[in-house]
Amino acid sequence: MTSVQQIDSILQRAADGGRISPDEALLLYTDAPLHPLGEAADAVRRRRYPDGIVTYLIDRNINYTNVCVTACKFCAFFRAPKHAEGWSHPMEEILRRCGEAVDLGATQVMLQGGHHPDYGVEYYEELFSSVKQAYPQLAIHSIGPSEILHMAKVSGVSIEDAVIRIKAAGLDSIAGAGAEMLPDRPRQAIAPLKESGARWLEVMEVAHQHGVESTATMMMGTGETNAERIEHMRMIRDVQDRTGGFRAFIPWTYQPENNHLKGRTQATTLEYLRLIAVARLFFDNVNHLQASWLTTGKDAGQLALHMGVDDLGSIMLEENVISSAGARHRSNLQELIWMIRTAGRIPAQRDTLYNHLQVHWTPADDPTDDRVTSHFSSIALPGGGVGKALPLVEAH
Ligand code: SF4
Repeated sequence: MTSVQQIDSILQRAADGGRISPDEALLLYTDAPLHPLGEAADAVRRRRYPDGIVTYLIDRNINYTNVCVTACKFCAFFRAPKHAEGWSHPMEEILRRCGEAVDLGATQVMLQGGHHPDYGVEYYEELFSSVKQAYPQLAIHSIGPSEILHMAKVSGVSIEDAVIRIKAAGLDSIAGAGAEMLPDRPRQAIAPLKESGARWLEVMEVAHQHGVESTATMMMGTGETNAERIEHMRMIRDVQDRTGGFRAFIPWTYQPENNHLKGRTQATTLEYLRLIAVARLFFDNVNHLQASWLTTGKDAGQLALHMGVDDLGSIMLEENVISSAGARHRSNLQELIWMIRTAGRIPAQRDTLYNHLQVHWTPADDPTDDRVTSHFSSIALPGGGVGKALPLVEAH
């Protein structure tokens, strides 16, 4: 069989719902012509979602502290303990931000922060229970395995105990942050103090076993090889075969500003789009695939809708972590809906569980609240923007 015939045959099998091996995924990633690759991925999306609906979410990423002991080389957000620019928000500030998000129609908060040396399980119990008590309508889709390992270490308890306790306090699901690159070589190069990829997955597996589902991310463009990108996906797929707890896969591209890697490497839009398509074909056991318009831009985000994507992610009423490293794309409710509709799909607002909250079958069904928009990083403000309301809330 020639390699062209081999690629055709793999694409056909994957489009029909068959499983492809990591080697086959790598061959598609490096050698498949872009058009047939996208077509095959889109065929899988159509079969999974024949209604043509593409979802979006309204949520807010709220950071409780930028103090962190882990010093990842790609991170522009953290400050070392005792650094003059370090801050931690008091609970009332976090709750105030949650309240603003609720007023703007958010259904989810992503609470994320650094590995503060003093924050053990007790801190997170108070954080989640306070948010849940004040805003029971908000899903707490937050933190990641790194935070769970850190809090368990600070409190001297097992991973399992930490998961059980923060779930009881109100954590609904775990965001897939901190995955970066899971294979050892690239992970060591960019985050030498972080847990290994195997350990990251172990925490996810424990959480899934205790009924706490999650999403899984991937940060591409920090010098990893194509084979390592596919290996990252294989590691996640293997765990998913055992637990079924990953709801979505969300690749995004490294942003080069204000961090120690200094943009020496980056992923191109084409590499990103090809990876999106291969992910849709490779993950026969993960339901949702999300485009990251924040890092790749809205044009690439919309193109990804033709490469197998069924979810455009969040408006992100607030985002500080990736914005600090240079992601400058911003959007709003009307624009995300327009991107989905002009790609020939039907937009729908979803919740954290991917239930459709409102399907905008025609433009007459579109929401009109123009306050629902994403905001630039507020960490440039003293104290991480404490006390500052979202600008459009003030203006309304
Ligand atoms: S990515 Fe997270 S763990 Fe790493 S330095 Fe930044 S805040 Fe700390």
